[in-house]
Parts: sequence; structure tokens; C-alpha cells
Amino acid sequence: MSVDPVTFARDLLRCPSVTPHEGGALALIEKVLAGAGFSVHRVTFSEPGADDVENLYARIGTTGPHLVLAGHTDVVPPGDETRWRHSPFAGDIADGVLFGRGAVDMKGAIACKLAAALDHLAANGGKPNGSISFLITGDEEGIAVNGTVKLLRWAAARGEKFDHCILGEPTNPRALGDMVKIGRRGSLNGTLIVPGTQGHVAYPALADNPVRRIVAVMAAVMAEPLDAGSDHFDPSNLEFTSVDVGNKTVNVIPAEARARFNIRFNDRHTQASLKALIEARAAAAARGGRFRIEWEPSNADVFLTKPGAFVDLVSAAIAEVTGRKPALSTSGGTSDARFIKDYCPVVEFGLVNDTMHKIDERVAMRDLAALTAIYRRILDRYFA
Ligand SMILES: [Zn+2]
Repeated sequence: MSVDPVTFARDLLRCPSVTPHEGGALALIEKVLAGAGFSVHRVTFSEPGADDVENLYARIGTTGPHLVLAGHTDVVPPGDETRWRHSPFAGDIADGVLFGRGAVDMKGAIACKLAAALDHLAANGGKPNGSISFLITGDEEGIAVNGTVKLLRWAAARGEKFDHCILGEPTNPRALGDMVKIGRRGSLNGTLIVPGTQGHVAYPALADNPVRRIVAVMAAVMAEPLDAGSDHFDPSNLEFTSVDVGNKTVNVIPAEARARFNIRFNDRHTQASLKALIEARAAAAARGGRFRIEWEPSNADVFLTKPGAFVDLVSAAIAEVTGRKPALSTSGGTSDARFIKDYCPVVEFGLVNDTMHKIDERVAMRDLAALTAIYRRILDRYFA
């Protein structure tokens, strides 16, 4: 049994699986994997206030080593469909390029993983020398509460143990083989709140303008780098994203000022150390004045899959197919790898990311063939 990665990617692109809708995508995957001998589970998760989301877990083999191929079939909305050269859910091919929402992020990579796994199994009597699993969520592009995080917990409760994972996010900036992600920065959101005393703008002595103090505190928080970076990470960074007093008048000193910020942090920090650092800087600048910081709960901690045998195996497979030695990077936003890393080492490698989430998202057919060859080599080496 085999599937053609281009045909299967095309079939997946024709499923309108904008988060939280399954759109038929998981059903297609289920059919193929079940046909190849995987035991397939479709699992729906719920959360008060959020949409139910369907997920899929499939495994073949009963022993170790256990390699998990992870991904998501949900996609971001297409935006203005009239601006697409080819309809975002038509799966059109033109000049060797497959168009559609999810082409690179990341239905294309899922098709490649499926094709590679089936080829590997067919070449090895239908059974892996260990276990292969597919962990596919429908809740990655949304709020990600009914997806990978719960699917991993569900699998662990069934006694599933994973040795390594490859997540198929599009990791290459320009060409296949550019970049493997071996970790991700953490992300933390906070709001700085400075209370004041409201009053007439012509009588500032009778008021206490919080804008003066919030400006000083913000400047102090931003004045120095948070760290100098580390072996595998850029320096941590804080960006203010909004500054508000909500004041619609011209003659009232406001009662309160707020500034929201996000921090992307590396492995020199934890959430606790960052909070302590920012609060210390703010306190010094506030000089006894009132302020507080409200921190949002974050499930995006920094992590690093240390370079070693598994990373080397993946890099070698990429180099053999593309002729390029991929950079080992921790750049970019967060991904579901932040949840997977609590269960097993995870690296991310997929297609070229220059059109992800954009109008005319697309993938070259030759990249689908090459990525399938890379995944196939990874499987062959892993289960050698
Ligand atoms: Zn993605």
C-alpha cells in the first residue's frame, strides 16, 4: 500500500479544515492509516467556552523504539478568497506548484509523512522495527486547548510511551534543508498597571498623573537587555504591544495607565526569573510609587532538544536528500513542540515557510517529493 504525497496533499487541501472544523481531513488520514495496519483512534476534546475539536492518534507496532510523527490538519482562515490566484480549498496545481491553505502549514508535510511511513512499512514487510505513531491535532492554529496538549495526556493515560518525535511545522526560511528547529523560546504576556489620581488637567498638583510614571517604568524595563543569549538561543526580548489610558477627554488627567507586553525568552530564564527581573526594574523606576504587573498564565516555556544522536540522524537525512546541512535553530514563535517536549525529545522539520498563513500559500511539488524522501530516510535510519 502506498500514497502519492502530491495527490494526498491535494486531497487534504480540499478539506476546509479551518480551526476548529475537521473538514474531512482526519477522515482521509484515518482511512489510509487503517488500511496500512495502524490502529487508529479519533478523539474529540471539549472545554467550557471553547469549540469541540477532533484529533487523531494512530500507532503501528507494539515495541520500542517508538517514533511519533506529529502535526496538525487545521488551518488558518484563507482571508479574502478573491485575492487568491487559485481558490484556497481547490487544490489547484499550476507550473509544478500546489496551491491551497495549508499547503506548507502543514498538510503538505503530513502527506509526506504518510507517504514515507507507508513506503517504509512496505519495504519492511508491513511492520516497523519498533513503533510508528501519528499524532495529528485539529487545534493548533486556534487557542490550542483541545489539541496536542490533551491528546498527549490521553495517550499517556493509555500507557503510550514515546522515544522521539518529529513535528512537521514548516521550518525552512527559503529552501528545503535550511533549518531544523531543536527548541523554541518561551512566551510570557503581562500588563503593567499604574494607578494615579484623576483630576483637572489645569490643576495637576491636585491630581497624580499615571502617564508620567508609566513612561518612566516602561523605559526602565526596556533599558537593558534581559540577557545576552545562550549557546542555542538569541537574547530574550521584551516588546510593549499596547499602551492605554482609555481617555476620551482633553482636560482630565486619567486615573490609570496600562501597558501590555510580551516577552520571548531563552533558556537563561524561567517564567519566575523573568517576573522577578521585570518587577525589580519596575520597582526601582517607580521609586516607591504604586504599580502592579498582571501576568497571564503561560503554557509556552522555553525548551531545547540538545544536539545529539537523534538530531544528527535527522540532519544527516536532510543533508543526503538536499545536499545542505540544516541550521539548528530555536527561532520563531511557539509551536505544539512546547507540549510534546514534556513527553519525549522533539525536533521540527517540514516545508518552506515563506507563504504560510499568506494569500496564495503554496508548495512546489518537488519539495513534497524531497520531503517524503527525507522522512523516509529518517524512518529507515531510525529503525535500522
Ligand atoms: Zn503549523
